[in-house]
Amino acid sequence: MKKILKKLFYVKHSGHHTIVRILGIRIKYKTKQSHYVDTMPFLQEIHDYLSQNTNGFFLLNRGLQLDDNKRQLRDQVNNKMASNEYKTVPNKCLCGADNDEIIAVRDRYGIKINTVICKNCGLVRTSPYYDEESLGKFYNIEYRSLYTLCNNDFDLFFSNQCSIGEKIINNLKKCTKFSPKNKNVYEIGTGMGGILMPFMNLGAKIKGVDLGQEYINIGKTKGLDLEVGSLEVLKQYPKADLLILNHILEHIVDPITFLTQCRDILDDEGLVYIGVPTLEMIGPIYENNIFAYLQNAHVYDFSTGTICYVLECAGWSPLHVISDQGVVIAKKTNKFRKRTDIDAGHYEYALNYLKQVDKLFFNGVIKHD
Ligand SMILES: [Zn+2]
Repeated sequence: MKKILKKLFYVKHSGHHTIVRILGIRIKYKTKQSHYVDTMPFLQEIHDYLSQNTNGFFLLNRGLQLDDNKRQLRDQVNNKMASNEYKTVPNKCLCGADNDEIIAVRDRYGIKINTVICKNCGLVRTSPYYDEESLGKFYNIEYRSLYTLCNNDFDLFFSNQCSIGEKIINNLKKCTKFSPKNKNVYEIGTGMGGILMPFMNLGAKIKGVDLGQEYINIGKTKGLDLEVGSLEVLKQYPKADLLILNHILEHIVDPITFLTQCRDILDDEGLVYIGVPTLEMIGPIYENNIFAYLQNAHVYDFSTGTICYVLECAGWSPLHVISDQGVVIAKKTNKFRKRTDIDAGHYEYALNYLKQVDKLFFNGVIKHD
């Protein structure tokens, strides 16, 4: 049986190309250095899946480049999931529907986790997702080493954060009248607080919170006002004029409740600045590679449409959307959109977008023998 399978499914590397053969279909595509994850162990899975579902996307050697250490961490996570040490639980869609379609069964590391799209509202998410205890363990044990691109170079990480802070200031300047001087600018999930640095330099009264003690300590040595914790910590301070949530919402299981609670720490005229990786960034930022984008730590893969939906359900009104950066600037309102009030047609939009980038990635190189 194994011999037959090997004839029907194979992966070959030649120079800068990868050739994958699945039954009668031969796929040849350029392999970049950043594409690495082995497809071979997953071919049976691809076949099983293809026979059931036509809206699936496959890793096919285009995940992230993994060194030996990261490979070992990937296998460790997969083994822990297989043995139920890392438990997953159903993650029901925010719209309340129970009508999902699986679109990927691996992430960019080759971790075996399902990405689904809700056929009702079009929200793309990970389901089932880790339970709280397993997630805590994963963040403590594997997350940072697996995900870090800076190889624990804290100075590089901090200066990258500072550049993001400057970009946020520019975006705010372009889109709003917001000026940091004397304003209360807070950030949840601040890491080392580098994003807040340029705000502080422009005279803002900054506060950053993060659950990671180590990062907070490093940020404090740079003169930043940081504390270990989350939203609760910020409640004891004056109301914020600006709250920054950069790349944290996609990690939160119930982002609507979280964003609703965030209203409490904001001034009535306050703004929230959201940055999330969106589906629309797969084209321009991830070079059409869905598997440079999908990652097991993300509960949600928002689009600009679904991030606005989530904000409106939580009592925020989006003022500016910068689609190719995954940025939304919103203001506090007293209106709460109903979760059942979904955008009709968003399912088709999201799925078509993914199909389009997937096609562009392979760029017409799929050949039938
Ligand atoms: Zn839904």
